[in-house]
Amino acid sequence: MEKLIISVATTGSITSRQDTPYLPITPVEIADEVYRCWQAGAAIAHIHVRNADGERSMDLELFKETVSLIKQRCNIILNLTTSGSGEITEEQRLGPLELRPELASFDAGSMNFGPRVFINSPQFLEKLAAKMKQYHVKPEIEVFDGGMIYNALRLVEKGLIDPPLHFQFVLGVRGGLAATPRNLIFLVDSIPPGSIWSVVGIGKGQLPMALMSMAMGGHVRVGMEDNIYLAKGVLAKSNAEFVEKMVRFAREVGREVATPDDARKILGLT
Ligand code: ZN
Repeated sequence: MEKLIISVATTGSITSRQDTPYLPITPVEIADEVYRCWQAGAAIAHIHVRNADGERSMDLELFKETVSLIKQRCNIILNLTTSGSGEITEEQRLGPLELRPELASFDAGSMNFGPRVFINSPQFLEKLAAKMKQYHVKPEIEVFDGGMIYNALRLVEKGLIDPPLHFQFVLGVRGGLAATPRNLIFLVDSIPPGSIWSVVGIGKGQLPMALMSMAMGGHVRVGMEDNIYLAKGVLAKSNAEFVEKMVRFAREVGREVATPDDARKILGLT
């Protein structure tokens, strides 16, 4: 089997310091945490930033500072978020692409997302795909529900997204598909041959989905954006603990862990 790409999502936009005191929030804290995760075996860091109050933000200066601090210390692949809802505008969501990360998240459809509505209109998805193509940023196609795969494939037909496609299945969000083996198998069966895929299980879905993925030849994402517990009732003190756990399981099931440069080859990043 292919080497295992471990992606880490250290912060996200929803997890709070009330949920866990260990959440990295400032650019320095996020960069320190990404560095620890890289040392532990993560190949990709998925980045969100927070304002001084710890609230979600799409402030480009915060992204710039965070990216620069990480790049000074390691060669991990950066995947900047383009997500946002409510008061965050479409233009703000496109902002991080100007930093030309190797990857950026591409939320491939609209949905209920916990108490919110997460809007990704067909027009916005075209605009997002076109800008990613212009800036040579590979979309990480985030799929929360089956129909989102087909939204992405329509953009491939239009020439706005180029294969090989890289999917991130996000299972267990309230409003999306549940984190079950059947749902994961259905999604993997629905993507074009030659695609690369990874899975996020939210909360208690994180470990079972990661283990399924390792066995099926997929890749994994872990981190406090998706889950804060290392075991039942035990908060992770660092995102690196999740990465270390994935590395241990990967060894046990005979999957070598991909370095960032291995992951660049697998994902077709140049
Ligand atoms: Zn995210």
